[in-house]
Formats: sequence, structure tokens, C-alpha cells
Amino acid sequence: YKTISSDINIARSIKLKPITEIAQSITIPEKELIPYGKYIAKVPLELESEDKIKKSNLILVTSITPTKAGIGKTTVSIGLALGLTKIGKKAVVALREPSLGPCFGMKGGATGGGYAQVLPMENINLHFTGDFHAITSAHNMITALLDNYNYQNRGTSDVLKEVVWKRVLDVNDRYLRNIVTGLGENGNGVIQESGFDITPASEIMAILCLATDIIDLRRRIENILLGYKTDGSIFTVKDLGIAGAITVLLKDALLPNLVQTTENTAAFVHGGPFANIAHGCNSVIATKMAMSHGDYVITEAGFGADLGAEKFYNIKCRKSGLQPKLTVLVATAQGLKMHGGVPITHIKEENINGIKQGLENLEKHIENIKSYGQTVVVAFNKFTTDTEKEISLVQEFCKEREIGFAMNNAFAEGGKGAVHLAELVVETIEKNPSEKLKFVYKDEDSFKLKIEKIAKNTYGASSITFSKQANQKLKKLEDSDMRKFPVCIAKTQFSFSANPTAYGVVRDFDLEIRDIIINRGAEFIVVIAGDIMRMPGLPKNPAAMHIDLVNGLVEGLS
Ligand code: ADP
Ligand code: MG
Repeated sequence: YKTISSDINIARSIKLKPITEIAQSITIPEKELIPYGKYIAKVPLELESEDKIKKSNLILVTSITPTKAGIGKTTVSIGLALGLTKIGKKAVVALREPSLGPCFGMKGGATGGGYAQVLPMENINLHFTGDFHAITSAHNMITALLDNYNYQNRGTSDVLKEVVWKRVLDVNDRYLRNIVTGLGENGNGVIQESGFDITPASEIMAILCLATDIIDLRRRIENILLGYKTDGSIFTVKDLGIAGAITVLLKDALLPNLVQTTENTAAFVHGGPFANIAHGCNSVIATKMAMSHGDYVITEAGFGADLGAEKFYNIKCRKSGLQPKLTVLVATAQGLKMHGGVPITHIKEENINGIKQGLENLEKHIENIKSYGQTVVVAFNKFTTDTEKEISLVQEFCKEREIGFAMNNAFAEGGKGAVHLAELVVETIEKNPSEKLKFVYKDEDSFKLKIEKIAKNTYGASSITFSKQANQKLKKLEDSDMRKFPVCIAKTQFSFSANPTAYGVVRDFDLEIRDIIINRGAEFIVVIAGDIMRMPGLPKNPAAMHIDLVNGLVEGLS
């Protein structure tokens, strides 16, 4: 096989252009930019243009149920933008910001791979423009101010009966999931239970990603539910009187970040909720900014189409009015083989039967995407170990079903390797664009019906069991001003079901709903299915063991 250098070596071999030049290439004048060094800038919200947004073609990139390593959505998203540029189109990619948790944990960085990356990858993968730090600080500032409120009012009826707001940190740390605070002598607070979620699951992250401007951001912050008063009524950030302070902490983080690809095209990287435990899409602001400056905008939703794409349509698009012209479904031979029952240790070897069996997973995702009225094409993300026979099997499968198919080889070749995919995308959007989005559930449906429609139609569950706790919370929500909110299901990314080891297509399973978390500011409820944790843990051999600074250069980020 032809060996391809590591992502970081490729990233280093690329001559970056000053960010001012990248901005100019999409008609953003230098004087408008807010530079963060030479190669990164934030862009003011005034540069959004409703007219241009209406004319721009939005493309969603999603995938089959992923393997532990990912399927290559980010790589394909960037590759497609490069391919479109190669065939003369004005394309901009909009992606999420990486989190330090997976970067130092198991999954690695999230800036694409090979010759399809966003740069400077070390900066984007590490502290970038500080957005995650701002979000973390804003979240924990609310916690500190809330605890102080309860402390100062201790012994009075103003003390909250129940606190539902916790803390966040951008690390994988299982020890922080459940904690006790306020230990020690008097003056150290009141002893109570708390816990941490990872920053990509923070409600502040969701708010930042769904807000349309600073006023909407502030309104949503005011609405955050913190707990309940002794009379049972709700207590919000507005009641605490700190919405202004929290908005101040987030004013720069709200602005989208402009960077460049390996072929010096413009890319927006902004906001980073995970798609398993949160809603999984980059900010609405970044998508709209990209659409204001590109004729084709490619955006990725996290993990498989059961999670990221479902939430992209039912939450992000429903709330923002965005209408994707096309959905690109990424598949890999290795992923298909895994779904076809091939043990993970053997998915790099040719296995025709494995692919055949695994196509069932691809088919279920295709059906699901079509049910939204979306036109779907399959992008086969090529790895060097894939064989001709394996590839043509997938191609045949798509042909039989009249689904567009193209290979993406941008990882090895950059934009050149995505020209076929780009041509397919342009032709499909011209001849057969998606219909207006048909959502899986209506705003008016009860929460239980919303959950049931996703579980049965999208996941393929046959029944749903609600815990006593979930039942109680949903009952209360049904009678509240929140009853029209969408639902954001937190579920393992490795299966259609809540069982992370059930690959392929799972049938006749029961989906267990364990708990409900209210995100009143983000305007959705989080529905916890199965054992999923909103604070991940670390594996025995975390990626951090391979990361180092060698002669002033970062090694080991992938
Ligand atoms: P996703 O967005 O689906 O999680 P990524 O694009 O981040 O996936 O890719 C996951 C990992 O796989 C990255 O380390 C990336 O470099 C690698 N990768 C992606 N596509 C290819 C490919 N065609 N060949 C080899 N490695 C790839
Ligand atoms: Mg990705």
C-alpha cells in the first residue's frame, strides 16, 4: 500500500495563507476581521446576509453507525469542499470545534485527516480561540453564583428546594460524574451533591450553537432552569439576576471562527456539542455565515445519522429554518464489515460476506434520511486496505436502489480525490434536490410521542420503557410552557439501540429511558436512553500517552 504521512506531518507540510487572504477569497474585507494571530480570525455577525443564505446550497454530511475510530465525516466534509472548489464552485465548510476530552482520550482530534484537514490543526484541536474555555467558565460561573445565592439565603424560604444545575469541564474524567461539595468547617458552604458533565454537553454550548445573535443568546441564558423554589415554582438565571454577566463572558465566543483547509479554502469552525450526549451540530451562526459567503456549504452532524442527522433536522433545522438541499451519507468498508459481524480485529481484511451483511446498516440509514424528504447520496470513504471487490459491492447496492454513489479519496489526494463526489453532489442538487423537511414529530406531540416516534421510526425499537423518574418529569413538563420543545436523545453512538455492542441493524428491542434533563434556555429536553454518561471516561491507553512536545513541535495529535 501507498503509505500516507501522519495527519500532523501533512498539516505541517502545507503552506498556510494569512487569514486575511482566506477572508478576501470569500469577500470578507480585512477591516472586518477580528484576528486571533495570523491564521485564525473571528467574524462579526453583521456579515450574515439573509439574501445570500436563501440562495446558498446547504449539504449535510452524516454517516452509517460509526466504529470506535470514526467513519471519516469530517474528512469527507472537508474533502467535498475541496472537490467542489476544484470543479469551480464556491464552497465553504462549517464544522464543530474539537473537545479536549476525545482528543486526549480515545477518538483523537477532529480536524479531518490526511490531505483533507482544517488548519492550523494544533491550535484548532487544543485551545483555539478559547470558545470552550469561555463556555466552561460561563457554565461554572452560574454554578458559583447559584451556590452563593443558596449560601447567603441559608435558613430562609428563599433557598432552593432542588438544584438541577451542575458543572462542566472539557476533560474525560469519570471521577467527576458525581461529587459532594461544601465539605469542611462552617463557611465552606452547605454540603450537597453535584457533578460534572463534559463541556460539549453543557447547556451553554447548546445555547451558543442555537442562538441567532447576542440578544437571542441573552434571552436563552435568562431562561435557563436552575432549580425549584420551596413553593415548587421554577428558578432561572433571570431570577438570579446574572444574565448580563454571563452574556459578557460569551460575547466573543459567539462569533464564528474562520480558518483554512489544506488547500487554502475558507472553513468556519464554531461550537462543539457531541451528537451522542448533546445535539451534535456546529453553531447556527457558523452555518449561516458560511452560507452568506459560499454557494455550497458543507456541514457535518456528529456520529451516525440516527443521532447527529436526526438532531440536525429535528432541532437545528426546525429551529433555524435551514433547509438542506442534500444529505451525504458516509460509509466505509471497515464500518460495514463491523456491522456485518466481522470482529473489529479483522475489519481491515477483505471480507465480501461481511460487507454484504453490513449493508443492512447503510440501508436503514438511507431509509431514515429519505423519510425526512431528503435526497441522499452515499460517499464511500476510501481507506488503503479497501479492495475493488468490496467497493463495487457497495456501488452496486446503491445503483440497485437508485442512490447516487461516489468514492471519496480526499484523505489521500485532497480535492482531486473528491471531484467525482463533488460532481455527483452538484448534479443531484440541480436535478433532484431534497423536498422541504418532513420532521419525525410535531411540536404539538406529547414528549412521550416525540420520543416514541424517534425510537420506533429512526432507531427501530419495538417498545419504550420509561423509568419512574423519567415518567414523573415528563408528566410535569407536559403541563409546562416547555411542552413544545424538541427532544434531544442521549444514546450510545455505536448502535441503533442503547446497547453499544449491538451492531448492524437491531430489531425488536426495548429502548429504556432513564432520565430527563431540562434545557430550558436551549429549548429542548435531553432524554437519557440506557447507560450513556454525559461525562465520558478514559480508556486504559489514552491518546494523551502519545502526545508530546518534541523540538518545540506537538507530536501525536491525529
Ligand atoms: P468522523 O468525523 O466521522 O468522526 P474523522 O473524519 O474525524 O471521522 O476521521 C476519523 C479518523 O479516521 C481520523 O483520524 C482520520 O484521520 C481518519 N480517516 C478518515 N478518513 C480516512 C481515510 N480515508 N483513510 C485513512 N484514515 C482516514
Ligand atoms: Mg467528525
